[in-house]
Amino acid sequence: MNEACIITTAITGSQTRKSMNPAVPITQEEQIESTCEAYEAGSSLVHLHVRNDDETSSSDPEKFARVQEGIRQHCPDMIIQFSTGGRGRDPAARGKPLYLKPDMASLATGSVNFKSSIYENEPALIDELASRMLEYQIKPEIEVFDLAMLYSAVDLLKHGLLKAPLHVQFVLGIPNALPAKRHILEFLVGELEALLPDATWVAAGVGRHQFDVADWCAELGGNIRVGLEDGVRLDKDNLAQSNAAMVRKAAALLHARNRRPATPHESREMLGLAQTD
Ligand code: ZN
Repeated sequence: MNEACIITTAITGSQTRKSMNPAVPITQEEQIESTCEAYEAGSSLVHLHVRNDDETSSSDPEKFARVQEGIRQHCPDMIIQFSTGGRGRDPAARGKPLYLKPDMASLATGSVNFKSSIYENEPALIDELASRMLEYQIKPEIEVFDLAMLYSAVDLLKHGLLKAPLHVQFVLGIPNALPAKRHILEFLVGELEALLPDATWVAAGVGRHQFDVADWCAELGGNIRVGLEDGVRLDKDNLAQSNAAMVRKAAALLHARNRRPATPHESREMLGLAQTD
């Protein structure tokens, strides 16, 4: 097992609001500050959505550019991953900011029903986003909300729309999608290892499952994702004061399992990304 573990911070997302936790960073300035605090706490990868001033989701390339520029200025080796998903965004606009060449971008390889909506990713859109990532040399993070998305990713790889080795994220705990159960994660990881032995992986636990899933990732040898996108609480009784507080809690879970946060240099090596120095 790799002792070093990449801690991803999903700082904002598309759903959480300041009314749920005032620490959710919304403006580009808040996002830059929150990312750099998470970096100082041991996170080496930021997963980024941007928002309008009224907190709704945005695909505005200028907003992505501003945050990317601020992060590169203040913590230059932080790995930057743009979201191409997120509900409440025009599908045609989701890939627009990719010309800014972030290190990585998320790519959901299928659709799934949530409780009252469809997270819709039709094959033509997936192909288009994957092609643009190839064109701009952006490494995708494959978002698996349902088992079928793993097999779709293998198919995309076979057809040359993805390049090995893949980095895969399992999303657990969204109502009516994959539940946050440890044996489900173990099954998913086992299937990934059988299909794509060179892949790296991480899992996100949504809502109250966030740190349970993080601990399973620590124990099973994967990477960890935390942040105010996935949940606003540090534990049952307390709101998280910041994304950095969540990263510190993730780092403590790692130490308890004799692992540690990967440095940005190590994380870039593990993901096959170019170094900044
Ligand atoms: Zn996201």
